[in-house]
Formats: sequence, C-alpha cells, structure tokens
Amino acid sequence: MTYGVYRQARNASWHCLLDCNIRELPVSPAVIVRLYGLDCRYRTAEALGGRSGMIIRQADSTRIYINRQESIFRQRFTVLHELGHYLLGHLGDVPFSRCEDELRSSEEQAADKFAIDVLAPACVLWGMGIRTADEISSLCRISYQAAVFRAERMRLLYQRGMFLAHPLEKRVYAQFLPYIRKNRKQFPE
Ligand SMILES: [Zn+2]
Repeated sequence: MTYGVYRQARNASWHCLLDCNIRELPVSPAVIVRLYGLDCRYRTAEALGGRSGMIIRQADSTRIYINRQESIFRQRFTVLHELGHYLLGHLGDVPFSRCEDELRSSEEQAADKFAIDVLAPACVLWGMGIRTADEISSLCRISYQAAVFRAERMRLLYQRGMFLAHPLEKRVYAQFLPYIRKNRKQFPE
C-alpha cells in the first residue's frame, strides 16, 4: 500500500466518523452503513464461497453481504471493510462486486485500513490511555488478532507522539472528547 492509498483510507475514516457524528466506542457498523444508505444482509459461508463478506452494487442499490458463521467481532470488521470499498471508490460499473478473490491487493489493504481506523480511532485510544491488545479488543469490539495489529500501530504512534497532527483528526478528537473525558483510564500502567 503506497502512502497515498494509506492516507486516502485514513482520511476517509475520519470523514466517516465526522459525517456519521460518532461520539462513542464501540462504534456501530450497522448504524454507519444505514446512514450511507447501504443495505446489509447475512449469508451463509457457503453462499459467500467461504469469504467473510462481499459488496455488490446494482443499478438501484448497493448491498453488503456478511458471513453469518463468523464471530460478531469479525462481522463488525467485515461490514466496515466492505463500506471502505464503497467510500474509497473501488466499485466500478454496475453490477459490480468486490472481494471475489483471495488476493490481498492494494484495495483490500486500503479497505482493511479504513475499517480498523473507524473501529479503533487512534486519537481516541490515545486520549483514553489505551495501549494493549486486550484493552483495544474489548473496548472496540474487534477480534484479538485485529487488536494485536492495532496495538502495534499504537505503540509506534505513541513512540513518535504522532497524534492530532491533522485537522480532521483534531475534529474527530473534539467530537469524542466528552466520551474520552468520562471513560479515560484514571491511572497509568
Ligand atoms: Zn475487500
């Protein structure tokens, strides 16, 4: 994933949190996709060919399909991954579907980046003093595996002190501030 693609996904996540007026964790993927006018349905793993999800744009609607056999934490991530494809302009002419192959293309990585940035916004975790994968998984309701990656990213950001450097991130932080103040950890580790 090039820096341009990374930055586009990151900025889209901030726009999404702002547009949907999200002020608390855990975020609700169901509410977010509804605000964008997308329809979301369950499908069996078999119907999805073993994939976690899929997004299909047709002439009159765009619909996300979610693997009902996966954990709720995994489903939350998948909904936002598919929304990421939609918001990042990955859907071409109708009818069109994504996630049809196993390739981890640049677009797949960008959709993953969008999903984790919406589910576990770095500036909110920073404001609350959250660092470990355990904390991130339970607070953001994401899989432990996704939380481990997030914790590693947070470790680098803490090292570099890279928070609130972008105007959009400052706005997200301000939007979450009442929640952060109420729920931040009272004592350091
Ligand atoms: Zn995908």
